[in-house]
Amino acid sequence: MESKLKVRYVETRAATVKHARGAGPPVTLEARLSAAVRRRELGVHFQPQYEVDCGQGSGVEALARWTLPDGEEISPTVFIPMAERIAMICPLGAWVLGHACETVARWGRLGGRAPTLSVNVSTHQINERFCGVIDRILKSTGLPPAQLELEITESALIADAELAIVCCEEWRALGVHIAVDDFGTGYSSLSYLARLPVDRLKLDKSFAQRMTFEKKTAAIVRSVLALGKEMGVAVLAEGVETEQQFDLLERLGCQQVQGYLLAKPVPAEEARALLIIPWGARLAPMSRPNHATARGLHAA
Ligand code: C2E
Ligand code: MG
Ligand code: MG
Repeated sequence: MESKLKVRYVETRAATVKHARGAGPPVTLEARLSAAVRRRELGVHFQPQYEVDCGQGSGVEALARWTLPDGEEISPTVFIPMAERIAMICPLGAWVLGHACETVARWGRLGGRAPTLSVNVSTHQINERFCGVIDRILKSTGLPPAQLELEITESALIADAELAIVCCEEWRALGVHIAVDDFGTGYSSLSYLARLPVDRLKLDKSFAQRMTFEKKTAAIVRSVLALGKEMGVAVLAEGVETEQQFDLLERLGCQQVQGYLLAKPVPAEEARALLIIPWGARLAPMSRPNHATARGLHAA
């Protein structure tokens, strides 16, 4: 609801954005986005993902960022749908993929653990050309394909399930992994799970956020974890913001988590630093007495 209002606000505002006060014709936010993509003026932040049992950072999700010259940040919930509307999502998505692969490949060359890299893929990128783009980027950056995970949403399956399945099979043949993002919110049929070559389900953040006070939501989370286990598909819970949510997920047997409690999306070097330290070790030891061993606090 909030994001819809925000979109309407930005769209209304878009018609009035000018180059400079009184100078030149009005320039819409769409035109600015198009220029920013062409000039490669967007950014990428990385949000760490963690293993629940040991607290170790195991991956990062690349998230596109757009800051206007006056410092105003435009949310991806606004500019990604806008890029889709103005047919700029393919160059934008290819740039994010290239930049993110280059960054994580560089971390690999510096040594240490190699985290997996998750990159969001728009429904509009699910076509026969994108496989060539992925292949070229993997070859030019040197990122091992098994380190890359492409996230699609259930809306891609609703748009054209056959195309999504064929494309995911092609991408997987390159050696990359496939995740279903925002799982549980897309109104899609569960039957696709049997046919889609999927490696991980990313449980939408609304579940982690509601399950501590809604019994039915906790039951859904428990069921999705069981489904993942039965199918041999990993399940990551998104949007973990509180220790209460983390503790319940741990009790339910969730293996992987991502959320503000553990780490926010941050610039590349900050993300790399965060991944090196198990997340529990970043908290004051006395604040989590029950979890000290599990989170690696006593490991050293
Ligand atoms: P997403 O792929 O589901 O990414 C997770 C979003 O949840 C991110 O929002 C992240 O900042 C936010 N988040 C993470 N932890 C928490 C938490 O604990 N609480 C809350 N409330 N939020 C949390 P962000 O960065 O604003 O991105 C929003 C969406 O925009 C993404 O959702 C994804 O659908 C889309 N997006 C972002 N970058 C790209 C991109 O490069 N390509 C495409 N196609 N979509 C992108
Ligand atoms: Mg995502
Ligand atoms: Mg998500």
